[in-house]
Amino acid sequence: MKSTARKYVSESDPEVKQILKLDVINLSESLWNMSDDIILKSQSLSTNKFYYLQTLVVSIILSFVAVITAIVVYRQTIVRDLEKDSIYDPLTRAFNRRHLNELIEKEIFKVNRGWQTFSLIMLDIDFFKVVNDTYGHGVGDMVLKEISKICMTTIRKYDSFARIGGEEFVIFLPNTNAEDAIKLAERLRIIISEHDFGEVDGITSSFGVTQYRGGEQADDVLNRADSALYDAKDSGRNNCVLKY
Ligand code: GH3
Ligand code: MG
Ligand code: MG
Repeated sequence: MKSTARKYVSESDPEVKQILKLDVINLSESLWNMSDDIILKSQSLSTNKFYYLQTLVVSIILSFVAVITAIVVYRQTIVRDLEKDSIYDPLTRAFNRRHLNELIEKEIFKVNRGWQTFSLIMLDIDFFKVVNDTYGHGVGDMVLKEISKICMTTIRKYDSFARIGGEEFVIFLPNTNAEDAIKLAERLRIIISEHDFGEVDGITSSFGVTQYRGGEQADDVLNRADSALYDAKDSGRNNCVLKY
């Protein structure tokens, strides 16, 4: 373009000059088009770069949110599992003693403000040590699980079943008087004594039953159920004793 322009300036022949002039115009036009092209290409490149950055930032934010959500859900699941485990006896899946106490204390709080009452049934397997000694600990565990299953499937859905010791259990019966509680204990006594425990014959259990008296603490009512159970053992086992 420069050399054509120089030639045009130094040329004296008007015809050649005219041709050179057209050349200069054509060349400057094509230069103009080239620079136009470069500008368009660089604009499109920077737009693509912007979209790429935008996508990257959005992906990072989404990944971050996903990781945080996963951590929160995982943590909640673990906490829920731990909370669940902390109220159950692992062998029988009955409630443990601590949870039973909490249930009784909550019910005492309600009962002392209303007209309802509650009852307890304490159950102890008879001569369970003999079962372990004769058939082994594994069979003993099976008997504990079977008896728990019988109790849990026989009680109402708002009653609770807890394991409070080796072969001792408590059934907590909200809104239930002593007469209804002893009927349930008698029903369970018969079901257990007639149940097929496989190789183990003659499994029986004894029951102490009592009803809550206003003003008592959880331990008072549990001790009375225990005392009724002691009387049931003392009078020959495989029976139910009610203590008011
Ligand atoms: P009683 O009729 O007076 O209640 O006699 P018992 O033999 O049932 O009572 P004792 O207290 O002498 O024995 C209870 C037995 O329960 C002793 C212990 O080895 C057994 N035991 C406690 N916990 C478990 C357990 O988790 N699994 C098994 N298999 N046995 C257990
Ligand atoms: Mg026993
Ligand atoms: Mg016992």
